[in-house]
Parts: sequence; structure tokens; C-alpha cells
Amino acid sequence: MLLHIGIDDTDSAKHGMCTTYVGAVLSRKLAKVGEVEEAKLVRLNPNIKYKTRGNAAVALALRTKKVAEAKRITRRVVEELACFDDNNTNPGVVFYEGEPPEDFSRFYRRALHEVVGIDQAESLLRERGAEYVKYKLGRGIVGALAAIGAELSRATYEYIAYRARERWGTPRNLDTASVLAMDALTFPLTFNNYDYAERRVLIAPHTPCPVLFGIRGTSAQVVQEAAELVLPGEDIALSMVYKTNQGTDAHLQEVSRIAEVRPFSSVILAGEVASAPRVIQGGHVFFELCDEHGEQITCAAYEPTKGFRNVVRALIPGDRVRVYGGVDESRTINLEKLEVLRLKRERLANPRCTRCGRRMESAGKGRGYRCKRCRTVAKEKVVEELERNIQEKLYSVPPIAMRHLAKPLVLCI
Ligand code: ATP
Repeated sequence: MLLHIGIDDTDSAKHGMCTTYVGAVLSRKLAKVGEVEEAKLVRLNPNIKYKTRGNAAVALALRTKKVAEAKRITRRVVEELACFDDNNTNPGVVFYEGEPPEDFSRFYRRALHEVVGIDQAESLLRERGAEYVKYKLGRGIVGALAAIGAELSRATYEYIAYRARERWGTPRNLDTASVLAMDALTFPLTFNNYDYAERRVLIAPHTPCPVLFGIRGTSAQVVQEAAELVLPGEDIALSMVYKTNQGTDAHLQEVSRIAEVRPFSSVILAGEVASAPRVIQGGHVFFELCDEHGEQITCAAYEPTKGFRNVVRALIPGDRVRVYGGVDESRTINLEKLEVLRLKRERLANPRCTRCGRRMESAGKGRGYRCKRCRTVAKEKVVEELERNIQEKLYSVPPIAMRHLAKPLVLCI
């Protein structure tokens, strides 16, 4: 019998913990009653307010003859490890025996693109005869069900090393040179290990959670081999390789017009730059995008996107672009990628005086242009070439600002 186990919402921003750790501990314990055939780390809608950090849920597929025992072990592990003291932690566990139905996959896709209610998860689970456990509000059943339903046709892998319990909350001491050497040897089969512009190691979190480091890549083997090249500075108490939807852009949905853009979704949308980008206090950059129906929407590159803002600042009205990003409550698109489709290369300008080189002024409506000083005249405006310092290509925020789900540029080709 194949038993699917989904888990979510076990961690707390304050006290630490991590649902992937619960999954790793559980899969060790479940090895006594069966074989874990698949372990998934599934990121869900990055725009929802309930998430602690990266909106991750975990699902394990266990081949077992001891279903009741496996369920007991699962409940015990979640009850031992989840941070019940945190008001925002509302764990949920889902069990499903056999091949998950197609509407579980549909639920996964909805959980990537929309905000779904606990009641919606619950009614689907009941309808399909699945067993589930809600702790406190039990919001975790949303992610737990979605993780079981995630088909991961496009997948990457993550190796995660966990710390011994007594080290949780203390500074991590990874050897940076070993991370750079690992990256040099394995990129682009592994990705987002280091941000070279910001000189920051990205594989280790800065939270009190049990994760020591995680390496993302295109196969289970490559992330495991890459991990062996890292000098961790402390013992690795436990490790796990997950199959995941990270780095796949699974959250993005193409929309054909601005009217279709919904709050809390993530979209790909083509249009024309309608306003000169403006920079506000804090270094955030905004511009308006317009579609052929005349509708407009604000796009934003916030300060943490660092050098990417220079690309956005270099846009001018009339440029044709495709934007990729998450939509907030007020329908602003938080840019993750920007494809420059067509740069505006020319503009109409007043002619220059043939004698002094200064730009001429209008001589009045329909009366052409003149240079007051030299008394030269011209009839019409002239076409002037614009010097542009960006190219017609796909740009991304730097690794340091990348969302878990965002596909890095190296994987986009
Ligand atoms: P961790 O890093 O441990 O996974 P997290 O950032 O993933 O933390 P959670 O603690 O899992 O955050 O909290 C997210 C909560 O939101 C969970 O209860 C999950 O079931 C729920 N959830 C996930 N996706 C959606 C969605 N699309 N709509 C509504 N609720 C969701």
C-alpha cells in the first residue's frame, strides 16, 4: 500500500523549527515500517499572509503494510516537534491511501495561485475519504493536501543538512571558501549558492531554525555530491534530499490583460511602459504598465532587489516589456523578472540650430521651429536616436532577492 502523508504549518518565526525538518525526522522513523519512495518539499502561494517564511509544505509517499502504525508515528512526530505555543502555528496532517485523485492536483495548483480556505481543503478531504488531523485551527491541512497533490512535472532537488539540537539558535559557521569552490564546480547544476554582487552565502539561513544549509540543483545526485564539498563548521545531525517545485516558476500564470490580474496571484504579463520609472524614499522603483485595452497597473522593484532596479530605472515610456511577479493586495506587481521585448530607440524632438547647435523653439502652432539667436528656421520635428543602456533580453532579480519558486535565469535557457 502506498500511503501519502502531507504535513504543514509546524514552525514558528520566533521559536524556530521547520516543516522540512519534521519531514526529515519522520522519514527516518517511518523507515522502520516501510520505504519512503518520494519526499516532496512543495512551495505554495508566496503572496499569502499566513506564511512564516517561504510557504513550504512537505509530503512523503510511504510504501508500507503497516498503515496504522505509520499514521501513529506521524502524529507522534508532529506533536513532539511542532511549535504549538506560537499563535500563528496551526499544524495539519493529511493521510491518503493509494493514488491521489486528480482534484488533489487541482487543489495544489489553486494553492499556488490563490488563497484557499481551510474549509475548502476539509470538504475535498471528506469527499475523497482522506484522513486528516487538525491541530489548533488546523490551517496546515491546506498545505498538507496541496503537497500530496503536487505532481512536480517540472522539478528541482534540495539537499538539506540539519543541526544538532543544542546548536539551534547559535551562529552558523560555514566555510565560505568551500561554498565558493562547490559553486565553481557544480553551477549551473546547482544554483543560488552565492550572490557574487552582494558577496553573500545563500545556502545557510539566518533564522533560529534547525537548517544548517541547503543546496538546490537539478538532480538528487548533484545536490548530494555538492553538499559533500561544503565544510559545515559543525556536525550534520541529519540530512534529507527533497524533490521540489523550487526554481520552476510554477507559481506564475500568464494573463492576457491587466483586468485579469488578481490580488495574491503571480503573473506573467506583457505590456507597454506607460510612465517614467520613479524612485521613492527607501530606493523602491515604480512604473506603470499599460495593455492594449488601455488598462494600467503599477509594477515595483523594491530595494532588496538591488542591482535589478537599475534595469527598471532605465525603462522609458513606450518600451515593450513582459513582467513576471507576485501581486499584492493593492494589485501592485512585485517584479521577479523583466523581459525587455522592444526598446524604444527613437523619439521626435525639436530640430537643432544648424549654426549654434542649440535646440530650436516652436515658432507657434503650425509655424515650425526657430532659433531666436541665429534666426534660423526649420519646418518639422526630427527623429532622434535614443541611447539605451539596457538590452532586449530577460532580466531577473539577483539570487539574494529571489523567491524560492522563481526560476533562475540559468534554468530559463
Ligand atoms: P516553513 O518554512 O516551516 O514551511 P512557512 O513559511 O511555510 O514555514 P507555514 O508555517 O507553513 O509557513 O504557514 C503557511 C500556512 O498557510 C499553512 O497553514 C498552509 O497550510 C497555509 N497555506 C499555504 N498555501 C495557502 C494558500 N494558497 N491559501 C491559504 N492558505 C495557504
